[in-house]
Amino acid sequence: MHPISVRDISKSFMTKKGPIPALKKVSFVVKEGEIFGLLGPNGAGKTTLINIMLNLLTPDDGRVRIFGQKPGPGVASIINVVSGGSQFHWALTPNQILKYYAELYDIKDPDKRIAELASLLEISDLMENKFGWLSTGEKLRVSFAKALLNKPKLLLLDEPTLGMDPDVARKVRREMRRLNEEGTTILLTSHYMHEVEQLCDRIAFLYQGEIVDIGEVKDVKLKHFTTYDIVLTLNKRPSRAFAEMHGLRVKEDVVRATLDSEEALSRLIAAVHTAGYKIRDIGMKKPTLEDYFIKVIKK
Ligand code: ADP
Ligand code: MG
Repeated sequence: MHPISVRDISKSFMTKKGPIPALKKVSFVVKEGEIFGLLGPNGAGKTTLINIMLNLLTPDDGRVRIFGQKPGPGVASIINVVSGGSQFHWALTPNQILKYYAELYDIKDPDKRIAELASLLEISDLMENKFGWLSTGEKLRVSFAKALLNKPKLLLLDEPTLGMDPDVARKVRREMRRLNEEGTTILLTSHYMHEVEQLCDRIAFLYQGEIVDIGEVKDVKLKHFTTYDIVLTLNKRPSRAFAEMHGLRVKEDVVRATLDSEEALSRLIAAVHTAGYKIRDIGMKKPTLEDYFIKVIKK
C-alpha cells in the first residue's frame, strides 16, 4: 500500500474569465520511506494537489489514495501537514495551540509530548508568547511541532522553509531527515533547489498542471544535461596545437573543456600529463537541479 497514489487527477478552478486548469491528468506514487519532491514554478499546481490529498478540494476527475484510503477523516490520524502559510489564532500561545491539537489527536500524556517537541524545535522559551508576536521562522516551528504531535506516517510539507533563516532551515532539514530515517514518508514542495537536491530520493516536476519529468534527481538531470564543464589551471599556457587537438578553450594558464563522460575526463588528464603540463587546480561544474529547473522552464 503506497503512502500516496495519484491517478489521472484533473482539477479546474472556475473564474470570471473562464476555467483555469490547475491539474491535468496527474499520476504518480510516493513509496513508503521516501522523501519525494514536488517541484515546479509558481502556479504549477503543487498546493492544489496537496489540498486534494488533504480533502480540502475535490478533484474533477481521477483518484487519490493515502495508504489505500480516500482522503478524509479516515486518514487524519496518520498524516499531517506543514505549509509555509500556516496560521493559528494570533492571540493564542504556542502552548494553547499545541494543547488544542493534542486533544484533537487524542495524544496520551500531552504535556510530555508538547515539552518534547518544544525542546526539539527550540520553542520552549516562546511557549507563553502570543502567536501573533512570533517571527516567521518561529511560527513555522510551532507549525512543525503541531505536525509532529501525532507522529504521522506521512508528512506533507508545502514550502516548509519559505521565509526561514538559513540556520533554522538547516535545523528543519535535519529534522526532516531524522523523521524520515525513523520511518516517516515525506512529500515536499519547495522552491529551494539545493534543499530538494539534498533531501529528496525522487522528484516530479510539475509544469502548468502536468508532470513533465519524474524519477531520481540524478536521472532527471541526465535527461536534460549530457555534458559538464571542467576547468583546469596548468603550470603554463598550453600550445595552440594541443588546445585544438583536445577541444580546449584557453585563457592564459586556465583551460576549459566540455566533456560528456568520465572516460573523456581521464583521457584529457592523461594527455595533459603526457604533454608535460602540470595541473595546479581542477574544478568541475556539474549541472544542478537549479540549472535543470531553468532549462525546463525556458523550453
Ligand atoms: P503552486 O502551489 O504550484 O504555486 P497552485 O496549486 O496554488 O500552484 O495554483 C495552481 C493554479 O490554480 C494557479 O494558476 C492558481 O492561480 C490557480 N488557483 C489555485 N487556487 C485557486 C482558486 N481557489 N480559485 C481560482 N484559481 C485558483
Ligand atoms: Mg503553492
